[in-house]
Amino acid sequence: MKEKPSERLCRNCGSPVGERYCPRCGQEYGSTRITWRTLYDEMVSLLIGDSLFSETGAIPRYGMLQTLWRFVRHPAVTVGEFIAGKQRKYVPPLTLLLLVCTLCLLTLTGLGYELLDGSAAAEEEIDTMIFSLFGFMNSHIEIIALLNVPWLALAYRWVFRSRSQLRYMEYFYIGLYLASLHILLATLLTILTHACGFDPDGMPQFWLGRIITVTLCVYNVVIIRNLLKIDWTRSLAGCLLGQLIAAVLSLTVISLIVTVWEIAAEI
Ligand SMILES: [Zn+2]
Repeated sequence: MKEKPSERLCRNCGSPVGERYCPRCGQEYGSTRITWRTLYDEMVSLLIGDSLFSETGAIPRYGMLQTLWRFVRHPAVTVGEFIAGKQRKYVPPLTLLLLVCTLCLLTLTGLGYELLDGSAAAEEEIDTMIFSLFGFMNSHIEIIALLNVPWLALAYRWVFRSRSQLRYMEYFYIGLYLASLHILLATLLTILTHACGFDPDGMPQFWLGRIITVTLCVYNVVIIRNLLKIDWTRSLAGCLLGQLIAAVLSLTVISLIVTVWEIAAEI
């Protein structure tokens, strides 16, 4: 016998469930036994999205690949929608970044490659302490990607202060989406370098860094231009100034940390 709506209680929060989803917590009503189907649904929901499993007319929710693909194709629209409030539609940027890092690391480890980022290209001239710091960063790709985000957000907040009402954290979230793209690009280019048979320690390392820098710069300019509704020249100039300030800020902090580290080591 079919249960009457009033008897249907949500297994997550205990509220009465009239429709397919609990009005209080959003859990789908139905069997909660774990099956192969549960694993399949979770994978599809995580990677692709779960519009396929929602009620007719429900708003689709993008999974990791859909969010990434949309960000790659329409960066300004994706970021603009997220900031304007369409936050259930996309995978939130921090979750996305962690997923991208995990998948990229698993792929690289599986292939037996080390991530080439171009950031350690000039490593021979840098003293051993900074070298070890770069070595640490190279083995923790999420750190390279995250390192620049707070500084760039701070710099953009200042550079565009008279043009935009965007908050520091809104720039920070834009930076998190861009960090996912950074990791993805670095991973794809690393695989490409190996696939083409180049010596990973030679010139490709340098060009790889340049390709990533230019691509990210273009994405920055496009996003800022569309969000702030300014012209290309202003957007380009502002982004370059912002990147410069961010680089100076993060290098200053890294030097300070290294100095303190060295002083502490001597004591
Ligand atoms: Zn519930």
